[in-house]
Amino acid sequence: MQQKSAIVIGAGIVGLASARALAQKGFSVKVFDRYPQAVGASVRNFGMVWPVGQPAGTLYNRAMRSRAIWKSVAADANIWHQETGSLHLAYNKEEWQVLQELENIFKKEKRNVSLLDKNKIAEQYEQVNPENLLGGLYSADEMLVDPREAIAALPEYLQGKYAVEFYWNKCVSYIADQTVYIGNEEEHEADIIFVCSGADFETLYPEEFAKLPITKCKLQMLRTAAMPERYRIKTAICGGLSLLHYSSFKAAPSLPALQKKMAEEMKEYLELGIHVMAAQNGKGEITIGDSHEYGLYLDPFDRASTNKMILDYLKTFLKINSNAIAETWHGIYPKLTNGDTEIFFSPDPGVYILNGVGGAGMTLSFGLAEEMVEQAMMVTA
Ligand SMILES: Cc1cc2nc3c(=O)[nH]c(=O)nc-3n(C[C@H](O)[C@H](O)[C@H](O)COP(=O)(O)OP(=O)(O)OC[C@H]3O[C@@H](n4cnc5c(N)ncnc54)[C@H](O)[C@@H]3O)c2cc1C
Repeated sequence: MQQKSAIVIGAGIVGLASARALAQKGFSVKVFDRYPQAVGASVRNFGMVWPVGQPAGTLYNRAMRSRAIWKSVAADANIWHQETGSLHLAYNKEEWQVLQELENIFKKEKRNVSLLDKNKIAEQYEQVNPENLLGGLYSADEMLVDPREAIAALPEYLQGKYAVEFYWNKCVSYIADQTVYIGNEEEHEADIIFVCSGADFETLYPEEFAKLPITKCKLQMLRTAAMPERYRIKTAICGGLSLLHYSSFKAAPSLPALQKKMAEEMKEYLELGIHVMAAQNGKGEITIGDSHEYGLYLDPFDRASTNKMILDYLKTFLKINSNAIAETWHGIYPKLTNGDTEIFFSPDPGVYILNGVGGAGMTLSFGLAEEMVEQAMMVTA
């Protein structure tokens, strides 16, 4: 029987995860990206594989499946990864109340979490600022990769393991009759085509994107130079503002009280969608962020004042000096405005658009792609 063929457009995490899932199902796979390497959201993030942020059920299970894939792929491909877990810190009684409630809820959901008092935190995590600290919620599920290294290494891994072919510097300008066109010079045909074009809604199927409840989100980020050997955070770390950010935390009955307090005391942070997290990679560099600005048109320039606010807040929970910052940038991801967590549909026979994973692409894509490839295969069978 002749091997079925697949084309994936986009070599970000969604495209790479789709290529993997298609290859595992026996397709011969070609991946096209318009740049010489992926430079979109997938290399601009924290590299946090973050099940703690996902609500129980489908999304948490998908995150845990993705985590398992990350772990085995990273080990196979010799990609740096660390099962650091995560630590959310409380510096006021409202944050502490939310963390205590979450511990209770998460334990019932069989998640591996524990509350740490301030002495335990001081003992285990010496870079955490102990001043006014009440305690923290540790979750063991989270894992870190360095997105720049991981996303650059995955194509070679997929090529070696599944003979996936990569076509760089190829902007797919048009798709018709299960054929992708690179300008009017090249065309490639396949049985199934996955369009994983991230925040580009303008090139392929713009009329379909225009109909969707989708926008874009710009996030400002910072990174330190490699910290000295003695400076290790040892976990992925977040302050209280992050409790307002992830949907899994909405299960805490006291979250509205914390939200109200923050709306009164940290209005300017909430207006810029700032919550602050830090992840240290194998080289000792710390990735820090972020802010959230939404819209189909986003200001191309980054604001120093936003970065300063991020750093000021970071210093309330991490012992760090602003002089350590070596880089700043922003990333853009698509965000669904109706609360959905992904879009997957077929605009033309054999063509599937997979997009809209928002701020959780590193966490969910591997598992999501497996599920969506199954769905697509049922349709084309
Ligand atoms: C600052 C920031 C921090 C984040 N932190 C995290 C985190 O820690 N954990 C987490 O789980 N998620 C995080 N996310 C979210 C995550 O990064 C995204 O969900 C994910 O990267 C989206 O992947 P993607 O493949 O859809 O998009 P992208 O990575 O943008 O990839 C799309 C690719 O498609 C290519 N492309 C587009 N159109 C064409 C075309 N016509 N022809 C050829 N190629 C094309 C582009 O060149 C690009 O390489 C973060 C995002 C940002 C921006």
